[in-house]
Amino acid sequence: MNQPCELLTDNCRFVQQIAPTPLVPVALEADGPRIWCKLEFLNPSGSTKDRIARYILEKQWRLGRLRTGSLVVEASSGSTSIAMALVCAQIGLKFIAVMPESVSNERVQIIKSYGGQIILTPRADGILGALSRAAQEAEERDAFYPRQFENVDNAEAHRVSTGQEILGQVPGGVVHAVVSGVGTGGTIVGLYNAFAGAGCPVRPVFAKPVETVMAPAGQTYFEAECCSFSSRVPGVVDGLSKLYSRADLPGLIEVEVQGRVAIETTRKLIRHGFPVGPSSGLNYAAAVEAQRQLGDKAHVVTVFPDRMERYFSTELFSGWQF
Ligand code: PMP
Repeated sequence: MNQPCELLTDNCRFVQQIAPTPLVPVALEADGPRIWCKLEFLNPSGSTKDRIARYILEKQWRLGRLRTGSLVVEASSGSTSIAMALVCAQIGLKFIAVMPESVSNERVQIIKSYGGQIILTPRADGILGALSRAAQEAEERDAFYPRQFENVDNAEAHRVSTGQEILGQVPGGVVHAVVSGVGTGGTIVGLYNAFAGAGCPVRPVFAKPVETVMAPAGQTYFEAECCSFSSRVPGVVDGLSKLYSRADLPGLIEVEVQGRVAIETTRKLIRHGFPVGPSSGLNYAAAVEAQRQLGDKAHVVTVFPDRMERYFSTELFSGWQF
């Protein structure tokens, strides 16, 4: 990623600005742990997905499989489509985003404003419906389909850019734990590979959002384990990743975070001046637990993947008593 951009357009210089982002120590309580947080919401489209969009599309361009005017089709419930739309606009590619119709109107408008087209798939079919429709559209239109959930270049983008930046930013270049929720798995796999490859004694930490509901039982109420994975944390989805495999993440620590706690932590981060979305609260809450398990001296690193503005119409803001 540090070589000169090889896309022969003037806009290429702007694409190069996608990275780097700051890594800052964040403590929410005066005597609380200081977690090293990568401010990925500062990327131009507002999320870490700019990195994978740029890396994947640049590689295809270099291989001669894309040129000005080529068509890219991707399935995503949001961030990746927005990032693809932005990078396609910068380097002169056409873009179609295939998304479930449940996505927010803000997301649709952002993609359209970058010149992207939208295909909405039935709400009931979820992201799987969008994935199969994208495959079909790409086939019929002879388009490039990045397949973010299985494309190893997704994790590679994080290994060679996000990960190398962090190694240059964290004290002593040593990371003891890397914490992330899993959507495509690109972030946790790429960062783990970067840190382990640099010889760090790193533990991967999977931040898993869960929901617990109060269920009636006669006159009493008890807490019942309801569902793993929380609809309160968009972008972090269950079981779709073909990049994330426990076998490739030795010493994996799994930290469950209640969806309610992820939302409360996100609000605290916003109150501290970090304009982030729910997966940042999820990651931060899990990182605090990882720090507790690994001790004060451990350098625990996590990412703040995207910006709060994408969630004005969700529970993050609607349920917030200001
Ligand atoms: N947070 C947000 C807001 C996301 O959109 C995603 C990816 N869909 C993630 C976190 C998870 O990142 P990854 O796909 O690299 O696992």
